[in-house]
Amino acid sequence: MTATKPGKRNHESTSMSSPNKSGSSKKISRADSGKGTQQKSLNSFFKTSGSDAKKASQATGDGVAAVCKRKGSLIQWREFEQTWLGTFKSPEPATKFAAFDLDGTLINVKGNWVHPKSANDWRFYHKQVPAVLRRMYDQGYKIVIISNQNGLRQIKGAPKLTKRSVEYLDKIDQIARLLDIPFTILTALDKNYMRKPSPGMWFMAEMDNGGLEVDRVNSFFVGDAAGRPAGWRPGVAEDFSDSDLAFARNAGVPFYTPEEVFNDAVFAKEEPLPLPEPQQLSISRFHPSSLVIDNGSLSDLVAELETEVILAQKESKGILVILVGPPASGKSTFSGNQLGPLGFEQFAMDAKTRKKCEAAVKEALVAGRYVVVDNTNPDETTRGSFVKIAAAAGARSIAVVFGCETRELANHNNVYRSQLLQARYLSKPYDSKQLHLIPTNFSPVPPVAFHTFFKRLTMPNESEGFSKIFQHVFVPSFLRLPSDEALWNQYY
Ligand SMILES: [Mg+2]
Repeated sequence: MTATKPGKRNHESTSMSSPNKSGSSKKISRADSGKGTQQKSLNSFFKTSGSDAKKASQATGDGVAAVCKRKGSLIQWREFEQTWLGTFKSPEPATKFAAFDLDGTLINVKGNWVHPKSANDWRFYHKQVPAVLRRMYDQGYKIVIISNQNGLRQIKGAPKLTKRSVEYLDKIDQIARLLDIPFTILTALDKNYMRKPSPGMWFMAEMDNGGLEVDRVNSFFVGDAAGRPAGWRPGVAEDFSDSDLAFARNAGVPFYTPEEVFNDAVFAKEEPLPLPEPQQLSISRFHPSSLVIDNGSLSDLVAELETEVILAQKESKGILVILVGPPASGKSTFSGNQLGPLGFEQFAMDAKTRKKCEAAVKEALVAGRYVVVDNTNPDETTRGSFVKIAAAAGARSIAVVFGCETRELANHNNVYRSQLLQARYLSKPYDSKQLHLIPTNFSPVPPVAFHTFFKRLTMPNESEGFSKIFQHVFVPSFLRLPSDEALWNQYY
């Protein structure tokens, strides 16, 4: 897929002319669509983006987040895109960050349970935590705490903090009192680019560093979600996640586990840090580098479709192309970048617009035009009515099947796509960025949509009336913004 849904309507493809069946040249219908259509299609691909935009504009009262107005807090709190950025004792800008996850790294709950039961339900992970942090601070590191706290999420613009949020903030005050050194703390409440393993909070910390560039190679991040297998130390379970490790990889900083940093040996050393060589750890979550990308497969498929167009032109017939694939498998990108230039008009629908869509498809096919239906189309029921329409209009029906074998890839693309605007903004050179201008992310397609698709999926068959069935092998393309490739090549 290309970087974005809007990207699929890149200028090149929409302005291309293509021969129609009578041999003259016509602009594809999408070429006529102006910016309004682009926005509409953007909204339809990010189905919840409209409501997100609405939420964003609904900040209540003075528009200042409740956390920022908290009375008597030791921490100065600000909020950007559902991320709390707190500072204690006005930390000075520094070229090196010593950054830490919070839960399971700096602190633990007191008992044998997962979530804290009150603001007081915590203790330091190791008795040396305050001393080690102070030593790092004295050596010129800026101390940064980076924590996912999805459970504290509240409605944007809500005037009051939830009970759990208040307990969390009280706890951070207690920790600050005991650490007693300046630090910055970031808390991600939402599932956006600021949520680890995405590296947004690292970039935010850099942006809040007085314009001083951060030496990432000589900075580091410590976390307990390191993807270690069961029994990595006798008797312990596997790590619940590898999100801290993947976060450090995404941010491009060395990674340590709490065991390596907070132990008596590190503390006993009179020598200044650095810490020991980080251990070798592996990440099990999907990364695009595991894909075998066959760039030739795409041009082969396009050549096949061009042949179909030539045949249809000879016979003065229309063509129906039905795309079959999970959300975020690259259907719309393919449709825009490859089928658009061949003269295909694109149709997408939801349950409400199906009848309207069928009528429009019928009209186009009867007139001998080329049509692509860009929906997930998982089974014969969803495909059948279109194939029937095509048959009645004397048009050829073709199915193109997308990435049904790579659910992990679809998930990756889905999250990537939802976070792309934030990723682009936050990965820019930072002297041009401002925290309050971080864009809002799009909601990803919910997991249930993938589940439903794969549950319903039956592969298209010639017996359904298809004259050809092609397999589309995923090939990423970043026509619109080549720099998006680096953002795609991350852990999500
Ligand atoms: Mg943790």
